[in-house]
Amino acid sequence: MQRPIYMDNQATTPMDPRVLEAMLPYFGEKFGNAASRNHPFGWAAEEAVDTAREQIAKLIGAKGKEIIFTSGATESDNLAIKGVVEFYKDKGTHVITAVTEHKAVLDTCKALERSGKAQVTYLGVDQYGMVNPDDVRQAISDKTILISLMYANNEIGTLHPIREIGKLAKEKGILFHCDATQGVGKVPVNVESDGIDLLSLSAHKIYGPKGCGALYVRAKGPRVRLTPQMDGGGHERGMRSGTLNVPGIVGLGHACEVCGQELESEAAHLIGLRTRLYEGLTSKLEEVYLNGHPTQRLPGNLNLSFSYVEGESFLMGVNHDIALSSGSACTSATLEPSYVLKALGVGEELAHTSIRFGLGRFNTAEEVDYVIGRVVEVVERLRELSPLYEMAKEGIDLKSVQWNRA
Ligand SMILES: *Cc1c(COP(=O)(O)O)cnc(C)c1O
Repeated sequence: MQRPIYMDNQATTPMDPRVLEAMLPYFGEKFGNAASRNHPFGWAAEEAVDTAREQIAKLIGAKGKEIIFTSGATESDNLAIKGVVEFYKDKGTHVITAVTEHKAVLDTCKALERSGKAQVTYLGVDQYGMVNPDDVRQAISDKTILISLMYANNEIGTLHPIREIGKLAKEKGILFHCDATQGVGKVPVNVESDGIDLLSLSAHKIYGPKGCGALYVRAKGPRVRLTPQMDGGGHERGMRSGTLNVPGIVGLGHACEVCGQELESEAAHLIGLRTRLYEGLTSKLEEVYLNGHPTQRLPGNLNLSFSYVEGESFLMGVNHDIALSSGSACTSATLEPSYVLKALGVGEELAHTSIRFGLGRFNTAEEVDYVIGRVVEVVERLRELSPLYEMAKEGIDLKSVQWNRA
């Protein structure tokens, strides 16, 4: 077993060696520009890009021509939301999203509000982080042009009732964008049966390279239009100019193909590891709480709160040999408790004690057992050092204590 152990697969995934191998020729002798229409170098690049389009489309039930290549899911989210709001401004300016979305969606919505281009409703979620389709229905007005909700949450792994929301959007004639960056390749995603009109995905969350992603844009029923956010050579049906990242795109395509082939067996493998980890930890430690939905969650995500154990101190105790994350990787630079856990109604105390275990394709049962041992050791040590834990053990109700603030 190699250490450090990587268990932060919702932040990024290691490259699958099969994906890397497929990419390598495109850094070397197959260097052509996919837009060069009049020589074999260009043809070879274009052919590789077309193959990738088909591989991606197949994984999500789309058609190759509906795939627009981008630099990643952040760009795809920006292009989808800003592109729709700007293109359809005469039809309406209201957008519906949820408070637990990724910053790539939330900050895009905030920018549109600041510039006066849109009014945005941020829906709350239940204790498991799920949006209620009835709340979506109630938020819809005759000005609503777009609903943007994620497939699976990157912190707590909760899966949204996407199919119901997609159906609702169709019924009302509203476009539905889904940030499926965490869902694609992990759970079955199908833009037809899920009723999705725009879908964001990213290669580096599915064992492909960083800096490459895609936006699915529905071509028929309805044909979705976008205002491009990048002006230039009119690549990608005019929606996203810029010379294509051919090696990255080949990697993304190959990553999708492998995910499609292994989706079921990999989910079973990950659920097995997740259950082993959860049972191992909860059988040895008291006061461990699960964040997110008990069953409607990503196979590889386990988010736990360990009472009386400050997440950052915990990570300092383990991070030389286990890569984990407290809250979301994007927000752990600040010591604010995670906005996602807050939205679930997890109290500030418990939110500060949350750890995300992100299991992935290359994790093993042996690694899980090692992680259980180390986590138990560090949690027990920190609890022994915690005056609060001691007080609680002595039966003092911490809520009744009057604290003096400095
Ligand atoms: C990682 C992630 C993003 C951002 O993707 P990049 O390709 O890194 O820009 C957006 N949304 C979700 C849900 C993510 O997990």
